[in-house]
Amino acid sequence: MSRGVDGFGRRIDYLRISVTDRCNLRCVYCMPEKGVPWREMSEILSFEEIERFAAAAVEEGISKIRLTGGEPLVRKGIVEHVARLRAITGIEAIAITTNGILLPRYAQALVDAGLNRVNISLDTFDPEVYAAITRGGKLEDALAGIDAAFEAGMHPVKINVVVVRRLEQDLLSFARMTFERPVHIRFIEYMPVGGEGEQTVGGACSSESSAGDWTIEDHVPSDEILTQLNAACLAAGLGELAPVPRDEAPGGWGPASYYRLPGALGTIGIISPLSHHFCGECNRLRLTADGKLRMCLFSDNELDARAVLREGSADDVRALIRAALAAKPESHQMRVGTVRRMSQIGG
Ligand code: SAM
Repeated sequence: MSRGVDGFGRRIDYLRISVTDRCNLRCVYCMPEKGVPWREMSEILSFEEIERFAAAAVEEGISKIRLTGGEPLVRKGIVEHVARLRAITGIEAIAITTNGILLPRYAQALVDAGLNRVNISLDTFDPEVYAAITRGGKLEDALAGIDAAFEAGMHPVKINVVVVRRLEQDLLSFARMTFERPVHIRFIEYMPVGGEGEQTVGGACSSESSAGDWTIEDHVPSDEILTQLNAACLAAGLGELAPVPRDEAPGGWGPASYYRLPGALGTIGIISPLSHHFCGECNRLRLTADGKLRMCLFSDNELDARAVLREGSADDVRALIRAALAAKPESHQMRVGTVRRMSQIGG
């Protein structure tokens, strides 16, 4: 197997690092209502351990890093961590996925540290619905985060919208936003992550097919999202969504298909991990906050990077990454339910 290529010939150059399992929100589709027990700090990788891992990963073909969580901006020292990661030769870009709440405080410092690319999670423009989805968050804080990202010159600024049928989100207002700013909206299918082995009240999970409160009824296939959005845009006089050619789409590391409304500054992307799974184009590994290397979002088969970082050499870390590439599954096979919640993986 050549460097940076997995057992199915896919080039793996993208590493998602969860820097914390803690979050300042409790989104309904990401965490159970009572939260998840936080890991002890001794179980969480130190920044120094993450940086050593990243340096080894570069040697094995990784060139792009996304920081996620939990909420990555709640971890103290995150800006200096970004600067140190950015200084690793071979890392071409660093991005962050955040709920945006702390961006007014950190956006400029992150840019100064070398991070420009940001994905901000926002599922609605209705303050009450936002508070309900996030279990207590304030919409104005998330919107201030989006403003702060633009003011700091972050680019591209993408908005992640998880589409869940029972939330009855107004997707048209996101389409309107693309006329106001060069923002890239990404509608993401709700994924059945978490719930495996959880004790739930009311039998929301069964042991064979469980994913917390996920139900197939709440999953809105991307084709349906696109058809309904297009109809709503036409009815509202915004015109028809036209596909954006790949070379004109906002540079991304993932599998979104992008569309644009006539005259819009930004684009609308659709991500369909379930209805049109893109495993054939998968380019990523995931490192969890407690130091487990995950080869597939939907598979609990993990390698213990923390043990190797704490007891092994740099060569051992590289060997572990090669083992992960060799063990990466060909596809997720629509597995429903994982032991970890999304907040413990990082999306
Ligand atoms: N706290 C950060 C945030 O809110 O963006 C980063 C962590 S969050 C786990 C990363 C992404 O996963 C977010 O965009 C979130 O909306 C998405 N996500 C969480 N649970 C999901 C689910 N069940 N299906 C689809 N996306 C999900």
